[in-house]
Amino acid sequence: MGPKRIHNFNAGPAALPRAVLEEIQSEFLDFKGSGMSITEVSHRSKWFDEVINDAIERTRRLLNLSSRYQVLFLQGGASMQFCMIPMNFLADGRTADYVNTGTWSTKAIKEARIQGKTVQVPASSEDRNFAYIPRKIQFSKDAVYAHITSNNTIKGTQWDAFPDTGQVPLIADMSSDIFSRPFDVEQFGLFYAGAQKNMGPAGVCMVVIRDDMLDLIPGNLPTMLKYSTFAEKNSMFNTPPCFAVYTVQLVLKWLEETIGGLEKMAAINQRKADLIYGFIDNSRFYNGTADPDSRSLMNVTFRLPNEDLEKKFVADALVNDLGGLKGHRSVGGCRASIYNPTPLQAVEALVDFMRHFESQNG
Ligand SMILES: *Cc1c(COP(=O)(O)O)cnc(C)c1O
Repeated sequence: MGPKRIHNFNAGPAALPRAVLEEIQSEFLDFKGSGMSITEVSHRSKWFDEVINDAIERTRRLLNLSSRYQVLFLQGGASMQFCMIPMNFLADGRTADYVNTGTWSTKAIKEARIQGKTVQVPASSEDRNFAYIPRKIQFSKDAVYAHITSNNTIKGTQWDAFPDTGQVPLIADMSSDIFSRPFDVEQFGLFYAGAQKNMGPAGVCMVVIRDDMLDLIPGNLPTMLKYSTFAEKNSMFNTPPCFAVYTVQLVLKWLEETIGGLEKMAAINQRKADLIYGFIDNSRFYNGTADPDSRSLMNVTFRLPNEDLEKKFVADALVNDLGGLKGHRSVGGCRASIYNPTPLQAVEALVDFMRHFESQNG
């Protein structure tokens, strides 16, 4: 019998492809003939150089990046980006637009304002508990950048198309949907994603930055808080989170070589989401919390008739090897996170369980 593995619907850190975990296991003691683990080699060694450069090259291919974009690996999570973005780009006397679509957008706004920066909020879905993505937004023409959260991990909403911000560079927190679908990067000045949702373990944040954004950075920032430091040193000004970068590299390899790229990944993600939303829409027992036209393909948020049933649902699911279905502590309810690595079979097993649970408790 192999090791116990459950269907993992955690929001983050989240499931990784089994093949990636097995590859890590198989080369953990002796990385490519080095006689050392990848966690033991120098970040200046040829072994790690190949890992980080392959991760960057795969990112460039998967996202179709032109030479104007650089791929960086930083620490501090996506939350550090909330602080670094205004610090690097938003000079005194200038403004930035932030669309507020939930918990993470709210935090991004707060981190800019803490620094005394001027932030405008041209649209927010707070009036209905962030159940939708605002449409027809009037962005300011003289903002330095416009910031959005592409997928709202906690509220279960997602931008299906990105807003037109004209000449103003768009910046997006893509922590929970990067690499889940193809998109046109050209209007982005920067996008970033903590790895632990859709592409790896916790400990590294990917930043993709366009070269003109680097010109905005003031000289008087601490070295470790400047994007230019990471851009100039191939993310190795200091020791990068080697093991996390290595895992991201293997996930991207899986995405390219096993899945076959972002078009294919998007089709699989759509099937998974259709399956579970289709089931919820046909049930009077389960209720989706996001407006249908704003639903996330990554985080499916739903309620049961009462909180006692929700508790029982999460507990019974785990007994049936379906884990991580509790909603975020700030909103309650239930949530199934179905990121790239979650196979269709896991979603099928979940829907079967939901049907059974309804028949027993509905
Ligand atoms: C999880 C999450 C974050 C926070 O990420 P950390 O890496 O823990 O800082 C930020 N934004 C979004 C959209 C997230 O899902």
